[in-house]
This record gives sequence, C-alpha cells and structure tokens, in this order.
Amino acid sequence: MPLGGQPEEMSESLDRLERAHAHASGHRAELERGRSCGCFHCCSIFPASQILEWIDDDDVDEQGQTALCPHCGIDAVIGDQSGFLLSRDFLEEMRARWFEGSSEAVGGSGRRRPHDGPP
Ligand SMILES: [Zn+2]
Repeated sequence: MPLGGQPEEMSESLDRLERAHAHASGHRAELERGRSCGCFHCCSIFPASQILEWIDDDDVDEQGQTALCPHCGIDAVIGDQSGFLLSRDFLEEMRARWFEGSSEAVGGSGRRRPHDGPP
C-alpha cells in the first residue's frame, strides 16, 4: 500500500522536537542525574529538585517515572540530561509543536498548518 508522499526535507526540525518529546516521559532517572529541567507547557526552567509529583507508576517499584511540572502540573518536563539545550527558545518551539498546533496535527496524517511566518 502506498502511503503517499512524505515531505522528508521538512521533517528535520520536527524530528528534533519529536526526539525531545520522547525525553518528556519515563525519564525519572534522567532528571535525577541532571540539575535543571524545563517545562515546554509554561516554558519555565527550574531545578529538578522542585519536582514533587510524578505519574506513570512503574509496576515494579511503584514510583512514577514521568515528572509533572511544579508550576503548571503538565507532564511536559525535559531534563538537561536529555541532550537538548533547555533555552526559552527551545521550550517555546516545543510548546508550539505540541500544545499550540491544531490537535488534529498530532498523530499524523492530517494536514499541518505552517505555524511560523514573517513577523
Ligand atoms: Zn509547566
């Protein structure tokens, strides 16, 4: 079955954001190794020690593996050990990708509106 043309060239930065998103869950060990974290929902940067709530309990040790942001309570936290630079710009780029786009765009084959343009 042909899947149709995928715009490969355009996917590089999206791919980066997708990879970063993979670091936003199941990342407890990663966060605990690092010093600071960023939330790409409220775009705040805070020390990992501020995280108080965790979700995604593991059956084995019953500890949540995914951090909730101490500021907004959303599971949109990335640690500095993810390999991504936690800058405000990066967090805002992530927010635009995962929270501000059309919800239909998440998950795939739907058409995606170009979000950034000339100011
Ligand atoms: Zn937040």
